[in-house]
Amino acid sequence: MPVKNRFAELLPEITEWRRDLHENPEILFETHRTSALVAEKLKEFGCDEVETGIGRTGVVGVIKGKSDNSGKTIGLRADMDALPILEATGLDYASKTPGAMHACGHDGHTAMLLGAAKYLAETRNFDGTVVVIFQPAEEGGGGGREMCEDGMTDRWSIDEYYGMHNWPGMPVGSFHIRPGPFFAATDTFDIHVEGRGGHAAKPHETIDTTVAASNMVMALQSIVSRNADPVQQIVVSVTSFETESKAYNVIPQHVHLRGTIRTLTPEARALGEKRLKEIAEASANVYGATARVEFHPGYPVMTNWEEPTEFAAAVASRVSGSCGEAPLVMGGEDFAYMLEERPGAYILVGNGETAPVHHPGYNFNDETIPAGCSWWAEIVEQRLPA
Ligand code: MN
Repeated sequence: MPVKNRFAELLPEITEWRRDLHENPEILFETHRTSALVAEKLKEFGCDEVETGIGRTGVVGVIKGKSDNSGKTIGLRADMDALPILEATGLDYASKTPGAMHACGHDGHTAMLLGAAKYLAETRNFDGTVVVIFQPAEEGGGGGREMCEDGMTDRWSIDEYYGMHNWPGMPVGSFHIRPGPFFAATDTFDIHVEGRGGHAAKPHETIDTTVAASNMVMALQSIVSRNADPVQQIVVSVTSFETESKAYNVIPQHVHLRGTIRTLTPEARALGEKRLKEIAEASANVYGATARVEFHPGYPVMTNWEEPTEFAAAVASRVSGSCGEAPLVMGGEDFAYMLEERPGAYILVGNGETAPVHHPGYNFNDETIPAGCSWWAEIVEQRLPA
């Protein structure tokens, strides 16, 4: 039976899992119910090995093929965590936990990889080993990094990694990919501006931190427009401007800025960090204030490997008839850590004309499931032919 037909049969069951996950979102590493459910399903499917507690709440399942002449192991990775968003979809299976929501479709990712695991465990139509990986804390917590730090790659001798994300605005079940740098490095920063507080009617007696910090916010945009090579992508966003006072008549002593820098190359990343510090300090000094900059390295650039990307695109074409070129994404993706350890590729699967990810009205599109599951299964069957 063709792979796709089997997933058409499994669609109602996989949809049911997906909606159950949607109703019960868990944030960052707190994916206790989700991880337990995943582990239980993997055991039920007959996985040869199921391991929990990798990268705190991550789950790993091992499925051996009919034979192992290739001696090769492929890692397939999904993320399980939700976001701290108050859901506004009005769905009958909407989040039962106010302030937590599957607004990035990781419920769909988990369900699709479970579906593929069920199929692969029942057919075993491949020569080698598959490791299915369910990670927590993709949304800022570095769950993928923690699974890598727990020695996942060597422990299961993983030779290649593959990953997938749904993408609103692309036709349902269509695939898009690109080789090389794909998702951005996501560094963050805090800037503490220190001046001299005082009465708002006597600015001459103060060192006004709000004026210094306002100028700083504007000046930081010159990293993008005047420092970075115009053909390189870099984003600098100040996302929080906080003073200790809510009064109308007080010039605050201290302003705290927060923000993020997104880049796609090590050079741009280093430039961003260097200019952030220089501009913050200098623009505070102009007004007699001082700035202390804390730079926090985040996820590295996620870089697709050339040959695995071609292979992944060929599989996508088998499944959906074609595979388009994906745009560069200035968001981050901690699958980057796995692609730093081994070759592999990450692909986008269309979610149709839905609300964007991280929006309170977003929902994963269940019509994506047959294509997504088929891609997983075909990655294995085509890469490790029995
Ligand atoms: Mn996501």
